[in-house]
Amino acid sequence: MNQETKARFREIRDKVEAKERLSLDDGIFLYDPAVSLQAVGELANLVRQRKNGNVGYYNINTHLNPTNVCVYRCRFCAFRSDLRDPKGYAMSDEQILDRGREATENGCTEMHIVGGLHHQKPYEWYRNMIEILHSEYPQIHLKGWTAVEINWFEFQTKKSIQWVLEDLKSVGLGSMPGGGAEIFHPEVRDQLCEHKANTHAWINIHRTAHQVGLRTNCTMLYGHVEQAFHRIDHLIRLRELQDETGGFQVFIPLAFHPENTKLSDLKKPSALMDLRTMAVSRLMLDNVQHIKAYWIMLGVETAQAALAYGADDIDGTVRHELIYHDAGATTPEFLSIDKIRNLISEAGREPIERDTVYRRVHRDEQDFKKWTSGESVDAPQVATL
Ligand code: SF4
Repeated sequence: MNQETKARFREIRDKVEAKERLSLDDGIFLYDPAVSLQAVGELANLVRQRKNGNVGYYNINTHLNPTNVCVYRCRFCAFRSDLRDPKGYAMSDEQILDRGREATENGCTEMHIVGGLHHQKPYEWYRNMIEILHSEYPQIHLKGWTAVEINWFEFQTKKSIQWVLEDLKSVGLGSMPGGGAEIFHPEVRDQLCEHKANTHAWINIHRTAHQVGLRTNCTMLYGHVEQAFHRIDHLIRLRELQDETGGFQVFIPLAFHPENTKLSDLKKPSALMDLRTMAVSRLMLDNVQHIKAYWIMLGVETAQAALAYGADDIDGTVRHELIYHDAGATTPEFLSIDKIRNLISEAGREPIERDTVYRRVHRDEQDFKKWTSGESVDAPQVATL
């Protein structure tokens, strides 16, 4: 770094050390290639340590993508299918319950449920899925339906967002994933997915979810047509909602995978870009407790390195993930618990199993499949709404 860059970086370091909030300009500066990645990473690591101590979280989870048929055509999506395409599928109740049984047999604490917006499936099909899984396997936390799906249910039912969320909660929805955020700024969003839930809808649905007592996650899809300004603008919009509600529990930067998408001429982001985005996210989102390195998208090695660049969570064992594997992710489809724990230990952190809402999981020593959720891993003010 030259003298000028060093001086500007020092200003930012002073702010971080004093726990002062970083500005839009600060964030954009941290993306400047002239700013040493290692220096940005060290600063993010300081914040990670201050917020979460010397631990790395993981969970034992499975994915359920009940249909890939989708009315939308997002340009970055390799997962979707047309209604009459041979690739299209929609799972039966039996297949869905089988997935719940398999999850229970494997000691999963969470099922992550997201998919397409099927032209012919009514809201009741999506609702019923939550209801049957919850009544058959009540211990499994159902983290389901992105804001894009909730927006679709609002359209289908002609009811309010609050009604939809309370209705789903009443039959067993436990929390919401953070997908569908992509990049909020219209200069980018309109190029990626102009028809699906817009930025206002995404923010409003998460706000309402927090108001009805559902914790949610938040994400950002980066590494395609956006610039540093759009990324920082996105993070600041999330930070503002978090100031208002406190309902986000973790932020997950999602690396774009171009294969089989309408943006396949683009290159996927480099590992250096992944690490810088992880670190900048940790530094900008001063009010979000956890930052997750989602190994499925980053690759196992980069996710492990990300634990030194601001991330404190590496996601889960993950079974049956289809969305990013359809887009060319070459990561394994599943990581064993030993492998995940080793990845975290090798990075110098203590591996701790958490449930979806960040409570410590206690396993029965005789029977691994039996577990209970214990105390929150977070300070009380961030653990509860
Ligand atoms: S990203 Fe989601 S909403 Fe967009 S096309 Fe793919 S499945 Fe449909």
